[in-house]
Amino acid sequence: MKKSKKRIVILGSTGSIGQNTLEIVRLFPDKFEVVGLSAGKNTGLLAEQIEEFQPVLVAVETEADAQKLRKRFSKSPVKVLSGETGLREVASLSRADLVVSAITGIAGLRPTLAALEKGKDVALANKESMVVAGDFLRKIAARTGARIIPVDSEHSGVFQCLNGQKKKFLRRVYLTASGGPFLKVPIKDLPNKSCGEALQHPRWKMGKKVSIDSATLMNKGLELIEARWLFDLKPDQLDVLIHPQSIVHALVEFKDGSVLAQLSQTDMKIPILYALTYPDRLESPLPSLDLTAVKNLEFYPVEKERYPLFALARRALETGLSFPVVLNAANEVAVEAFLEEKISFGQIYSVVDYCLQSHRAVSINSLEDIFVIDQETRNKARQYLRLKGKQK
Ligand code: MG
Repeated sequence: MKKSKKRIVILGSTGSIGQNTLEIVRLFPDKFEVVGLSAGKNTGLLAEQIEEFQPVLVAVETEADAQKLRKRFSKSPVKVLSGETGLREVASLSRADLVVSAITGIAGLRPTLAALEKGKDVALANKESMVVAGDFLRKIAARTGARIIPVDSEHSGVFQCLNGQKKKFLRRVYLTASGGPFLKVPIKDLPNKSCGEALQHPRWKMGKKVSIDSATLMNKGLELIEARWLFDLKPDQLDVLIHPQSIVHALVEFKDGSVLAQLSQTDMKIPILYALTYPDRLESPLPSLDLTAVKNLEFYPVEKERYPLFALARRALETGLSFPVVLNAANEVAVEAFLEEKISFGQIYSVVDYCLQSHRAVSINSLEDIFVIDQETRNKARQYLRLKGKQK
């Protein structure tokens, strides 16, 4: 009997992860079918994707864009929705087998929740939702039987290393970091690095937000918090190694001193493919790893002075409570301001530090708590930017 295709929804289909996921669908047209897509403002690319992949349901941010798309696709059966409710409908589309959650930032939280509530397996690329609401997401998944499958390359690595292992034998998990574009830059020059320089990631092709987060190493801090919830680990079981070649994505050490590592070419399509096929694997045309060409695999500890934002993230991981929510919200506002060239590279740290310093950690008892603290922090960060932002 012919096996039917896996029906997937992609939230954030015009972003970097979204586009890579569609690349996988192009590579394996008999394995996957796209049933739903969502995008923010890039409706030009979204329209091309609708044309090519023929989803049944689509969501965009504004009703004005939705109307334009409805007009353009008036002869096609695709239904176009808008706003928060539209996004939620796509996320919980009943005919979907798997939802790829690839919206950047806390904006990805509500749709991810909607998918899990509906019992949908989620391929999670939206790390921020795990950072601010990891405990909730885990509990909802446990209740509905949905699986959360990591897409982030490091977490995919950990996930693969832990496959078939007993958690009680686990000692420590290491995530690797390339170190970003400023690994070798003199530390005194860092505060004034430009947006263009910060976006030049040496190894990975990624979206803008995660590229800046990689330059500050905040990305790795967020990933530690993400890993804490994804794999139910204690903060002291988590560590980071700088590994400039980005070939080893994660290492897992067991109590007997044995270490398993996951390696692959630096291509996001590899962890995405695994998340789409888990627990199976497909024969893939993606290039295999030639270690004789790589030659050296280096590992270094994180330099604290080079990456002060990483230390803030580490503190948020250890303190827990509402700290990760504040960390994430302040960072999102600061990175956005940096991308708009309203603040310097060094001021990203100042904004996040200010918001954490002036916050008293409280316990999170509901999702509403998360959204309230998120909003408060954003307001505080914007106020700080108005006072201290660089004079144009
Ligand atoms: Mg990553």
